[in-house]
Amino acid sequence: MTQNFNAELESRLVRYAAIDTQSDDEAAGSPSTQIQLTLLNLLKQELTDLGAADVILTDYGTVLATIPGTLSGPTMAWLAHVDTAPQFNATGVKPRVIHGYNGGAITYPDNPNLTLTSAYLATKQGHDIITASGLTLLGADDKAGVAIIMTAARHLLNHPDIPRGPIRIAFTPDEEIGRGVNARLPADLKADFAYTFDGGAVGEIEYESFSADAALVKITGVSAHPGYSKGKLVNALTLAAKIISALPAAQTPELTDNRDGFLHLGEMTGTAAEVTLKFILRDFELDGLAAKGALLQQVCAAVQATDPRATVTCTLIKQYRNMRYWLEKDMTPVNLARAACHAAGIEPRSVPIRGGTDGSRLTEMGVPTPNIFTGMQEIHGPLEWVSVQDMATATNLCLHLAQLAAKP
Ligand SMILES: [Zn+2]
Repeated sequence: MTQNFNAELESRLVRYAAIDTQSDDEAAGSPSTQIQLTLLNLLKQELTDLGAADVILTDYGTVLATIPGTLSGPTMAWLAHVDTAPQFNATGVKPRVIHGYNGGAITYPDNPNLTLTSAYLATKQGHDIITASGLTLLGADDKAGVAIIMTAARHLLNHPDIPRGPIRIAFTPDEEIGRGVNARLPADLKADFAYTFDGGAVGEIEYESFSADAALVKITGVSAHPGYSKGKLVNALTLAAKIISALPAAQTPELTDNRDGFLHLGEMTGTAAEVTLKFILRDFELDGLAAKGALLQQVCAAVQATDPRATVTCTLIKQYRNMRYWLEKDMTPVNLARAACHAAGIEPRSVPIRGGTDGSRLTEMGVPTPNIFTGMQEIHGPLEWVSVQDMATATNLCLHLAQLAAKP
């Protein structure tokens, strides 16, 4: 039943990627940036034109729609996020397609300093490879997911003869800044379970993410004229340096991988009078996460104790939780995705995500939501690329999912 979706996927991704949808974690509101509405409105219109039911753009910036079922059965949802990462230039994306990739290094027309080679790319000889021009990210994360869902939706809406249960579609904003899942989304989605299409290599079916907290450390010193400050000045910057150097050097992102968590100092701002440190804490286990938070609080208390004139506070802020805690109690959605992989002729594999997805939050909020591959690679930077044929494999997987989910 394998369909050839290559031309449609290529044209959808090229169109969607050219629209700037970068999110901004400094901005309030949902979506965080008004430019995301350009693509959200376009998707709303395209879904309406395809004949999807219940198409709306919510006031929190999420497009919802229904592919009506031909059978009763559980309601499944497919999600992708429209925003692109704030970490790299995303303005003026010029998608470029290399048809029939020859297996060699890929260069970028607008940036002669860049060359792309990778073990995964080496397996894609003969594929059609989409990249940006070298000055921006591509935004396959997650417009590859958007293109896959739109193509599968178009096919199912055109083929009411394909037996399936009802399928809900959601295109969310602001995933990259951790604000993709509005508190009202689970109720509005009305799905028994869901999948995000926001993963990488073909075959990846992910159901484990980090558990994540943030920590905000504020240090208030005592300000004084440096020429006459003997015995008076308490330098908040010096105390900040003590805190940083007291943390375990090996538990940083640059020295950890696989199942190890970390403490990451992501931002430090301030003066001798006052300093703010922003940390993120990550671990696959809740006790490991709690230990990292406790350690940071102990270090802050110890540095505070070295000078009672200073004030050091450490506030832990809950972010998201490993979706495995919920999914392992009922692996049906994971097993269904694995069965759809086999039906599409590929071998599923599950590796823990060293990050979070919209699915981490949705799962915690009661909608079990594993993550499925799209083919996207080297995301959040100028080398980002995706194979059209990998996207086509994910699209075929969608069609298998639709039919398998409806089977008793
Ligand atoms: Zn993503």
